[in-house]
Amino acid sequence: MKNIMSVDLEDYYCDLPFSEWPKYESRIMRNTEMILDLFEKYDVKATFFVLGYIAEKFPDLVKKISELGHEIASHSYAHIDLRKVSKEQFEEDFLKSINILEKITGKKVEGFRAPFFSINKSNYWVFEILSKKISYDSSIFPVRTQLYGIPNAPRFVYKPSLKNIVNEDVKGEFIEIPMATHRIPVIGNIPIAGGFYLRFFPYWYMKLGIKKMNKQGNPAMIYIHPKDLDPEMPRIKEYNWYYYYNLKSAFKKFEKLLQDFKFGTVKDVLVI
Ligand SMILES: [Zn+2]
Repeated sequence: MKNIMSVDLEDYYCDLPFSEWPKYESRIMRNTEMILDLFEKYDVKATFFVLGYIAEKFPDLVKKISELGHEIASHSYAHIDLRKVSKEQFEEDFLKSINILEKITGKKVEGFRAPFFSINKSNYWVFEILSKKISYDSSIFPVRTQLYGIPNAPRFVYKPSLKNIVNEDVKGEFIEIPMATHRIPVIGNIPIAGGFYLRFFPYWYMKLGIKKMNKQGNPAMIYIHPKDLDPEMPRIKEYNWYYYYNLKSAFKKFEKLLQDFKFGTVKDVLVI
């Protein structure tokens, strides 16, 4: 069974406020080339959720990713936290990002991922704006963490009701692809989808979770940031320990994942 590989294409400083970004030196070219080489080696195609800002600065990189057969989707323009903006601010940022991406690739953008997985009860309206322009979202993490998560959301690909996205609307057309989780009775859903969790958990745990999902007929949605694989990521004082945890072992674990499972883009796996 094919699982879904995704890359949130942003630089290591993009979790800081937008005004701070120019202070930092980019590492996106080097880190993305490394990921593209790995994908080529293991015959992986991925969906890249690209920041509009990064596409504007590195159009050739985004063009190259698209020409290699990967899918380009949106990760907003300025890495905004959707819990802190108005509907109008979000819509403006979102449209700006898809215009930039479509101009570079000449292909229609079909998907979106919210920065910081920042969807919660307060902003379900995001889905109404998205559904006017694109066909899927992949921002829901059905877990309970201090930073994000909608623990009662469905764990597998579903069609959300646009009014209340934790409910299914079987007649709906818009699709949600939640991050991969491992369900443990009584305890709840444990995140295994990649990023920090790839660095934090032993590899066998992630493998077990994906195998369990596949056994039940569900593809796992996995994500990685270029910075997750960069042990030389510069220190940023505003960043917590989890930005730097186990960066050294991440590359090996990620490579193992690509060896053990088959991966495609959202469009490959779901026929959108
Ligand atoms: Zn991001």
